[in-house]
Amino acid sequence: MTKLTTEVTRGAATASSRIVSRHVGEGRERLLEEQEKALRPRLFDEFIGQDAIKKNLHVFIHAAKKRHEALDHVLLCGPPGLGKTTLARLIASHAGVGFRQTSGAVLLRGGDLAALLTSLEACDVLFIDEIHRLSPSVEEILYPAMEDGQLDIMLGAGVSARSVRVDLNPFTLVGATTRSGLITRPLRERFGIPLHLQFYDSDSLERLLTRYAMRCGITLGDGTAYEIASRSRMTPRVALRLLRRVRDFSDMEGEGVISKTVAQRALASMGIDGVGLDGMDKRYLLCLADNYGGGPAGVEALAAVLSEQRDVVEDVIESFLIQKGFVQRTKRGRLLTRQGWHVLGKTSPERGDTQEAFLS
Ligand code: ADP
Repeated sequence: MTKLTTEVTRGAATASSRIVSRHVGEGRERLLEEQEKALRPRLFDEFIGQDAIKKNLHVFIHAAKKRHEALDHVLLCGPPGLGKTTLARLIASHAGVGFRQTSGAVLLRGGDLAALLTSLEACDVLFIDEIHRLSPSVEEILYPAMEDGQLDIMLGAGVSARSVRVDLNPFTLVGATTRSGLITRPLRERFGIPLHLQFYDSDSLERLLTRYAMRCGITLGDGTAYEIASRSRMTPRVALRLLRRVRDFSDMEGEGVISKTVAQRALASMGIDGVGLDGMDKRYLLCLADNYGGGPAGVEALAAVLSEQRDVVEDVIESFLIQKGFVQRTKRGRLLTRQGWHVLGKTSPERGDTQEAFLS
């Protein structure tokens, strides 16, 4: 049977070298991520931001508990690092039920999913990360399980094969995806609670960093948390990673308190500018501007020039650049916007005027 654990996202080998990469790294970084997991919010109150989502989930979970039912199935959509896994765990702990975790990328055979489903206790949460990567044959098994709490299992093979129907304990499937567009309609329609996580503003990330620093015994000077927060691609995982790297610089300088100046120096030496763009973002924008005259350009072509996987380009790089308004995704391809030209300090071909650079 396939090992049922979450796995590193494809393309992590190249992406892990980026300081703002949202993929799991190697060695020491992995150890630190393990520590970070131990510091994950354990209560909804500790989960910063996403207020509307938290408020609604609170109601849904309590209503289901009152009726002694399993919570309806939940679909969490949003770019990597925004807190989908954390939220899935919080749903289980808030509901007071068990939590099982796997990924669409490792659930290769129907038998793997059947084994998981039959092992669930009443009202447990089954979390499937990257649910858009489930194969059609595994997805088919999920439909009756989600809808009727039943599993159709084939016993034997050839002429003696017969189908047996098994009743499952009621359960909540929490699916997470960075690509809601890739989820098939029948699967999407079986989720009673679809939720879209939003990017975080700098104030929220500042609170998140301050709380994390306190719990880890890191002392931050005035304005340090905000400085890091405002350059964190609006993403908690990135904010936490940048804090760890800034702490490395501060430790080397023998500082007990991490000052804003040290943070600025550390971020600058890691190539992260005032708006949080890193080297890869700038290469992406420059490629669109210089190689394609601002676009439209196909994502495959851009990924090839950047030597990155297409899903890394779409999920990690573009999601942030689109959110910032530097790039547009159109049917004809990617387009550099007026702000995109502006951030590069380059002349837009249509407008013919020279924009002032604010990139450092
Ligand atoms: P995703 O599953 O969306 O990739 P994770 O749930 O793994 O993201 O979150 C990445 C890291 O950021 C984790 O360490 C998590 O604890 C932290 N984190 C994410 N969102 C929040 C939040 N809203 N409040 C506090 N910490 C958060």
